[in-house]
Amino acid sequence: MTTVDPTQQRLPISFEFFPPKTPEGVDKLAAVRQQLYPLKPEYCSVTYGAGGSTQDGTIQTVRAILAEGCDAAPHFSCIGASKASVREQLAQFKAEGITRIVALRGDLPSGYGGFGEFKYASELVAFIREETGSHFHIEVGAYPEMHPQARNPQADLQAYVTKVKAGADVAITQYFYNTDAYFRFVDDAEKAGATIPVVPGIMPITNASQLLRFSDACGAEIPRWIRTRLEGFGDDKASIQAFGLDVVVDLCDQLRCAGVPGLHFYSMNQATAVKAICERLGW
Ligand code: FAD
Repeated sequence: MTTVDPTQQRLPISFEFFPPKTPEGVDKLAAVRQQLYPLKPEYCSVTYGAGGSTQDGTIQTVRAILAEGCDAAPHFSCIGASKASVREQLAQFKAEGITRIVALRGDLPSGYGGFGEFKYASELVAFIREETGSHFHIEVGAYPEMHPQARNPQADLQAYVTKVKAGADVAITQYFYNTDAYFRFVDDAEKAGATIPVVPGIMPITNASQLLRFSDACGAEIPRWIRTRLEGFGDDKASIQAFGLDVVVDLCDQLRCAGVPGLHFYSMNQATAVKAICERLGW
């Protein structure tokens, strides 16, 4: 078990939620947020479905978080969108009092047509800046282990630099369990002129089969030693969760000791794992 010095400095943290699909899910997420607010997040972000499919749920959840007195950022993806629809959406965000956005390209749902008027997140970031100046604090995605569709790591890094230069303020990474990939990415990005803070995205480990399936799809590597341990636990949920907690606390502690600018937790709309990690970190 990792022993963490609780006197070490606390980092800014943020939580990511997805929009619930049912009234019960809405109530459950409201209860989860109440459990997480005592950890004093800098803000909470709310994901956006492929092709904008959960747009209403995203804005409703953001509205609820703002009404609870916490800053909130909708994720906003541009794939399949027109400039007119993005302009309209930005106007709605402004009218709702939203001042930060996680700006993404997104992924096309199967059966969806073309790209629309935006091909890459960098074009969305540039458009938001052209249309709204410095009104929004813009977060973008970063991939220390390379975006799965990129030609190669160099091309992906160059795409990231373009996105940063288009006007991003902060990057949030895809989750990873290999700190070397993160440190290398941050170094390379800085050398290439992209010097904005890169906040590690942290995925708690609570469900082995879901994590392994999800990671294959989004290109996040589960190191062999973690994969084999998880597989070895079979259906023993308690052992998976205890091991997962150790691994993720250790990861966060290494990142904290290295001076990362913050941690963004992929909560999966659950409070228990995130709370346990933060408690073990002494927060
Ligand atoms: P981009 O930065 O546009 O990159 C996409 C691909 O295009 C990369 O392979 C890149 O190398 C390449 N590329 C970029 N610019 C160029 C260029 N000029 N020339 C050639 N190649 C280029 N998805 C959702 O649908 N909803 C969400 O809410 C959501 N939240 C996310 C939150 C975070 C923190 C992260 C890291 C990802 C999230 N995603 C979400 C997933 C994301 O939408 C996908 O990973 C998507 O495939 C890429 O989005 P992006 O904004 O990183 O794209």
